[in-house]
Amino acid sequence: MTHPPAATLPLSHLLPPGAALTREGHLALGGCDALALAREFGTPLYVYDRRGLREQCAAYRQAFAAEYSDSTVLYASKAFLNRPFARFIHEQGLGFDVVSGGEIEVLRAAGVPLEQVYFHGNNKSAEELALAVEAGVGRVVIDNLGEVALLHAAASAAGKRQRVLLRVSPGVDAHTHEKTTTGILDTKFGVPIATGAAEAALRAILDAPALEFRGLHMHLGSPIFELEPYALGIEALARFIAEVCRDRLGVAVAECSPGGGFAVAYLEAQQPPSPAEYARVICGTLRREAERLGFPLPHLSVEPGRSIVGRAGVALYTVGARKEVAGVRTYVAVDGGMADNIRPAMYGARYEALSAERPLAAAEETVTIAGKYCESGDLLVRDARLPRLRAGEVLAIPAAGAYQLAMASNYNLAYKPAVVLVENGAARLIRRRERPADLMSLDVD
Ligand SMILES: *Cc1c(COP(=O)(O)O)cnc(C)c1O
Repeated sequence: MTHPPAATLPLSHLLPPGAALTREGHLALGGCDALALAREFGTPLYVYDRRGLREQCAAYRQAFAAEYSDSTVLYASKAFLNRPFARFIHEQGLGFDVVSGGEIEVLRAAGVPLEQVYFHGNNKSAEELALAVEAGVGRVVIDNLGEVALLHAAASAAGKRQRVLLRVSPGVDAHTHEKTTTGILDTKFGVPIATGAAEAALRAILDAPALEFRGLHMHLGSPIFELEPYALGIEALARFIAEVCRDRLGVAVAECSPGGGFAVAYLEAQQPPSPAEYARVICGTLRREAERLGFPLPHLSVEPGRSIVGRAGVALYTVGARKEVAGVRTYVAVDGGMADNIRPAMYGARYEALSAERPLAAAEETVTIAGKYCESGDLLVRDARLPRLRAGEVLAIPAAGAYQLAMASNYNLAYKPAVVLVENGAARLIRRRERPADLMSLDVD
């Protein structure tokens, strides 16, 4: 049904690798006509290209394995997770990074091994820590001094010794949005190296017999389009390994992680670094600093989330109302919006859009794609150049795979969208659209 991926498909570097044109000139995803998917599963619809997911998982595994043999890639679950998706990611050879008891429960129910799971978070509860210890989560990444005592208590009560990393904040600005920068001094995440808090937390870990210190972690924010913040962060981490861990405390650092935050392109003009480029800088800097400062190379783990799932996902909407404010702006509304994608309202995130029915049609006007929810700020794409869209036409927004459904809400009692995985002309439903009964399933009358 589909032609091979055409160079003429617009926005092809934002769309998944399995995107193409059908014979009729429609957008095809994984060999499925996007219009047929919209008809069968309803809109808004989230479509993930299996090939795109597989290729990104492989690209990260291979890029890091090539530069640094002792390394693992963990998928940051908060970008998007459910049970079938977890199994699929596990089959690609990735571990997981989680940030809540809920994510641990989903992974456990999915049957993936929890030894390859790293548990993050700046305020893990005693219950979550007890769950992590009991379930056998591989590493707990301690975020603050208070957590040392909480986790020690949980591990002692379970009669286990829990392996831990310590998350430090290296004082590096990753030049991303203020709501998503996490490696600077003034952030809620991690213990700062600069103030001595990191050393104090490490001493507390070493004094806790139910905790086994394995190494250090940092995460600078997201999305990070530059390579330099990773180099600066690893240099700070390396100084801490040599000067504090080794020289002052006499403790070996067996593992370290620069976190995730690798960028994807949302806009036509964006060109984020490739997995290989991130790997070269991260591994190269770590190797160079280890040699210069004379400490053994630690095991390296990285935690891509957005860059695994972002480009593989496409959101499909149906066009509805049109409002023209003469001389000011034309709004074209779709049947989704901030309930399935809060990123534009939350971060001013920007996207491109294209007609799934006529992706090759020339742009005729500049419009703002509005959502359907009761907020003026519920706008998905400002100033999009598009053909004149008709009511009922299917609109596709590329690079929709990360932090959209994961942040989805039932605002206005919206039904959360269905999710399908597509490949070779077949679509597999991995999450059905919510129904009225789902909205009321928790009510207690
Ligand atoms: C969110 C997060 C990640 C993943 O970030 P991406 O931008 O999705 O790659 C990795 N590590 C930690 C600790 C995080 O909080």
